[in-house]
Amino acid sequence: MELRLHDTLTREKRTFVPLDPNNVRMYVCGPTVYDFAHIGNARPVIVFDVLFRLLRHLYGEAHVKYVRNITDVDDKINDRAARDFPGLPLNEAIRKVTEQTGKQFHADVDALGALRPSVEPRATEHIAEMREIIERLVAGGFAYVAEDHVLFSPQAMNAANASLPRYGALSNRSLDEMVAGARVDVAPYKKGNTDFVLWKPSKPGEPSWPSPAGITAEGRPGWHVECSAMAWKHLGEHFDIHGGGIDLVFPHHENELAQTCCAFHQQRMANYWMHNGFLQVESEKMSKSLGNFITIRELLADWPGEVLRLNMLKTHYRSPIDWTMKSLEESAKTLDDWYRVAADVEPGRPAVSVVEPLLDDLNTSLAIAALHSLRGSDVPALAGSLRLLGFLSESAAQWEGRKQQASGVDVQEVERLISERTAARSRKDFKESDRIRDLLAAMGVAIKDSKDGTTWEIAR
Ligand code: AMP
Ligand code: ZN
Repeated sequence: MELRLHDTLTREKRTFVPLDPNNVRMYVCGPTVYDFAHIGNARPVIVFDVLFRLLRHLYGEAHVKYVRNITDVDDKINDRAARDFPGLPLNEAIRKVTEQTGKQFHADVDALGALRPSVEPRATEHIAEMREIIERLVAGGFAYVAEDHVLFSPQAMNAANASLPRYGALSNRSLDEMVAGARVDVAPYKKGNTDFVLWKPSKPGEPSWPSPAGITAEGRPGWHVECSAMAWKHLGEHFDIHGGGIDLVFPHHENELAQTCCAFHQQRMANYWMHNGFLQVESEKMSKSLGNFITIRELLADWPGEVLRLNMLKTHYRSPIDWTMKSLEESAKTLDDWYRVAADVEPGRPAVSVVEPLLDDLNTSLAIAALHSLRGSDVPALAGSLRLLGFLSESAAQWEGRKQQASGVDVQEVERLISERTAARSRKDFKESDRIRDLLAAMGVAIKDSKDGTTWEIAR
């Protein structure tokens, strides 16, 4: 069985062949840390966690390196710092904001059952690598200095004779069209209207570092070069997989690719570019103004993280996903059931029927359909497969206990009422047994009778 992945650059599904099977390397663009992450941000976290787990399953845990960065240089961070800590010098305030939101992000994604990446580099710790890349780009004629800025020229890239990829290839755009369609009011120091910033001067009070390319004033990096630098430092000039949300294809990934390939004279930056589709909430674009903006943290107050994880994986990663309350409720029921039947069972090997669709460009929706079939046929394989996908991190009792705690139900009282009801049923006092059932329902408890006795759960 071989792994096939869809590559955004070549627009096809190809067999995955790692550059080095002893060191499979993946980079995913992480969050900009200035506030609680929203449920859309959870999508790449969960999708690429499944890929990370699958790669570890195929190549061995010690042979996969997963890098997900933390962007801690950004205007939104500066604004938040000035607003939340007005009494502090800006640099200290920024550190407070990024520390706090970094911690929140970790707590959230841990709860979603996502493994920590092998390395989580911060932009502020890689300024030297950014400067080095910028120096190389200037020396190679791909970038120039203007009014204390350094700008990258896509036109210089496409005019170069070297065996470089074409600017625009990833996002499937032509540079000529981009030039024609660009805004007219571009900054006066730009030679071409599609040129983008590698480095810029810092405003007074903003974080700043010594500049590259002979610029005397201190400055700060542009966003795209941050990822080129962190990927280079931790994965090298050319690696296997680069991922992120579909919104990052242009300009972020197009520009990252351009910078890295031109700086290192490479035909490729990553061999496979993977992008997750966008998440909408109840069929609408998530936005603060529409009032349907949901953070991971808010959802975790009502649902276990694994429910959010299952709900995310029901849709194939490249399709758009509509996040609805109805679907969440179904995911919660499914997971309750799987916990009951499989959490305390010795896990077997993950089933072929689950692994095979995963190998086909991470088809988690088909894999989940296969899990449903395993429930009736092979519970140890169900348990092993669920673990491969990052589920069943708790015992059945822990799972049930946490839910009951959250619901405030008195477990002993429920158990007492159920045995009273069983006694009533065995003496055929159905009026009494119905009364107790209604009483339990009013407490938010649903019961289910089967030949093995009565089970109960918190009704949603
Ligand atoms: P940001 O912090 O906005 O740079 O986003 C971090 C990650 O979340 C990136 O990979 C984005 O592509 C991804 N992302 C942001 N919003 C959504 C969304 N609504 N649906 C899916 N992915 C998203
Ligand atoms: Zn990035």
